[in-house]
Amino acid sequence: MRKIVLATKNTDKITEFKRLLDEHAKDIAVLGLNDFPDMPDVVESGKSLSENARLKAKEISDFTHLPALADDSGLFIDALNGDPGIYSARWGGYLGEDSSQRDLVNINKVLEQLKTVAKGKRGAQFKAVVALYKPNPTGPAMQKEFEGILPGEIVFEPIGNSGFGYDPIFMPSGFNQSLAELSPRVKDEVSHRGIALRMMAPFLLANL
Ligand code: IMP
Repeated sequence: MRKIVLATKNTDKITEFKRLLDEHAKDIAVLGLNDFPDMPDVVESGKSLSENARLKAKEISDFTHLPALADDSGLFIDALNGDPGIYSARWGGYLGEDSSQRDLVNINKVLEQLKTVAKGKRGAQFKAVVALYKPNPTGPAMQKEFEGILPGEIVFEPIGNSGFGYDPIFMPSGFNQSLAELSPRVKDEVSHRGIALRMMAPFLLANL
């Protein structure tokens, strides 16, 4: 069976990736952190989602000698000139003992920054770049990336318990619920990561 390794330690992202790949690229075995517990942390030194996604895919492929799939994603808020953007994971200073505490610190910082911004001016987009790096011992490696964008707005207080990150304060366009109130299946259908992965799936099936 063909194999691919997910270049992330974020267990929430691994869950989303696995769900989506199970549905759209069934005959590909998806390996992750459990299969490579010594997987290194990749320093996200790039200046864009695309640079960071490519960096993570290459480093993890170099480590595992397998094709690797990485995503870099973030929340881009119009009233904050695109912040937190590529800094979304560390917007609150990476404070807190676990990911749910850090998510809460990030959410509170955004809500504080937007407290005087009126409804109608709270537009934002979630963006994800999904990048593949497939090593090739006899020539240049294969690299491919796709971007998915989910437009919406930032609500005034957190609502809902599912998902992760900024989901409780993001209401996708066309919905009147936050991402954290939507079922995982509906989130996959509309999300930036779902859009990018659905574009990547046929490429994986044809090229892995
Ligand atoms: P990175 O891609 O690992 O740099 O992390 C991106 C950060 O953006 C995450 O830690 C979350 O804070 C945020 N983020 C990315 N995608 C989502 C999503 O689907 N829902 C909520 N927050 C997200």
